[in-house]
Amino acid sequence: MPQDAEIKVLDRGFVRLVDMMGNDLSVVNAARVSFGKRKEHFEEKDKKLIQYLAKHEHTSPFRHAYVQFHIKAPIFVFRQWMKHQVGCSWNEISGRYVEFPDDEFFIPSLFRQQSKDNKQGSQGEIESEHRIAARTAYEAACRHAVDEYKKLLSLGVCREQARCILPLGLYSEVYWTSSLQAVAHFIRLRSESHSQWEIQQYAHAVRELIEKVFPASLEALLSTDVG
Ligand SMILES: Cc1cc2nc3c(=O)[nH]c(=O)nc-3n(C[C@H](O)[C@H](O)[C@H](O)COP(=O)(O)OP(=O)(O)OC[C@H]3O[C@@H](n4cnc5c(N)ncnc54)[C@H](O)[C@@H]3O)c2cc1C
Repeated sequence: MPQDAEIKVLDRGFVRLVDMMGNDLSVVNAARVSFGKRKEHFEEKDKKLIQYLAKHEHTSPFRHAYVQFHIKAPIFVFRQWMKHQVGCSWNEISGRYVEFPDDEFFIPSLFRQQSKDNKQGSQGEIESEHRIAARTAYEAACRHAVDEYKKLLSLGVCREQARCILPLGLYSEVYWTSSLQAVAHFIRLRSESHSQWEIQQYAHAVRELIEKVFPASLEALLSTDVG
């Protein structure tokens, strides 16, 4: 994927690859420096070394490679994503500096039911006779919050207080820079079925954007439990 490549996610979000340092070869070279060796080209047998590193938790070679993304996602997605702390750096748009636009909230394409066997999770779609009412309620609540936010601003209330009434579905933007090991850890945890469907879509996009540069490293890291 070229730098600046962007994948659309959900109704208004995206993941954009801003910058990248390293590749599978740089992982191999970071490991081989132990023997005073360096290679110019990645060979098939280097895959085995990468698999060995991941399997035996010799993880430091994966932390010389870094990836930087620009992400637009709803706040509830970032609440989950930002729990990933180690090896990452975050910067986010500030509602203290900027006024939020009035149509920037996430509208689900369908409403899921509460899961019966997973207290956090969801399953299937709600009953068809409730779908219009659910969408109407959801959109009205978002609209009301945004209208009242605008009203508070027009009354002279500062942005940093007015924003407190905005919903979790509001879109925000961040720069996220992360080591390859930390990105792989994020992809592994947030692609699996217990993670919320919306963050799974972001995890898939992140993976797609970097997979061609780190195919062997990602395959190895994603098949282990390395943190
Ligand atoms: C399906 C799912 C459900 C979740 N539900 C909740 C929830 O209900 N509430 C909630 O608050 N969070 C929840 N989380 C977030 C979860 O607890 C983690 O905070 C999140 O997945 C980030 O993972 P991490 O801590 O491994 O990442 P990082 O913080 O990036 O840490 C990476 C690794 O570094 C090591 N590490 C990090 N901190 C320490 C430390 N202090 N000491 C030693 N080693 C350390 C660990 O090996 C860790 O795996 C959930 C996550 C998932 C995937």
